Amino acid sequence: MKKQGDEELNGMPGRHPLSSLLREDRMPHIWCPGCDIGTVFSSCLTAIHESKIDYNNFAMVSGIGCTGRAAGYIKLDSFHTTHGRAIPFATGLKIAKPRMKIIVFSGDGDLFTIGGNHFIHAARRNIDLTVICVNNFTYGMTGGQVASTTPFNSKTSTTPQGNFEKPFNLPYMAAAAGAVYVSRWTTLHVRRLTGSIVEAFNKKGFSFIEVVSSCPTSFGRRNKLGSPLDIIQHFHKISVIQNGIHPKDANLDISKEIVVGKFVDTEAPTFFDLLEKIYPPETEKGA
Ligand code: SF4
Repeated sequence: MKKQGDEELNGMPGRHPLSSLLREDRMPHIWCPGCDIGTVFSSCLTAIHESKIDYNNFAMVSGIGCTGRAAGYIKLDSFHTTHGRAIPFATGLKIAKPRMKIIVFSGDGDLFTIGGNHFIHAARRNIDLTVICVNNFTYGMTGGQVASTTPFNSKTSTTPQGNFEKPFNLPYMAAAAGAVYVSRWTTLHVRRLTGSIVEAFNKKGFSFIEVVSSCPTSFGRRNKLGSPLDIIQHFHKISVIQNGIHPKDANLDISKEIVVGKFVDTEAPTFFDLLEKIYPPETEKGA
């Protein structure tokens, strides 16, 4: 399907193949060399390009943090919102523009540690959003503080002796709260991740994709994980694809095993389906 801006890609050697989706005037981006956020962002742009949905029908909403900067780099309607509040902004946008495909693209600190309450309620209400969480286990931008996703025993700037708290299992939380589509990939699984994002775009209801990623600067160095390439090779070594398992069994232990795959793909009435039963659109117009 030919999309808005695609003609710009033809006959222009040297330009990024997704340049029609990038605000090139905002480059260079702020992400550190070797950071995995770019990989996830690129997968998301590829999924937008490959989907059958017109670019004009997409919007991206991000919170604060390194991942949150994505909303400023995508050349679509986008909102860089306050810390932890991407989902409430996205919900408001969806209510105002129900036909739009709203992508929430943010980090683990933003979506789960500060914004966890919003996440569980949007999943519970089955609000039609696609939430992509770049989980790099820390607050990268602000200096590598502990988050609700930081692995047990890992060092952060606020847990120099090792984190003694148990992290959330994000797919399990999403599924338990009511998400109709749940998957987890790492930044090694680019093709599968892109396919999963396309599937999530085509899903009616609350879809969630966790992407296990590296923050070589704030998390990797402190935990002696090696170079960005070493980390990707480590993901390759310990990742196990287990599609269809119960998300409670989707283990994530960065020293031993990362279970990835699609865990939930189901149907349920959305918030708007149920709302329209009580307040049919005709009533609204006449009101
Ligand atoms: Fe990426 Fe970490 Fe650098 Fe932020 S601090 S851009 S998450 S490597």
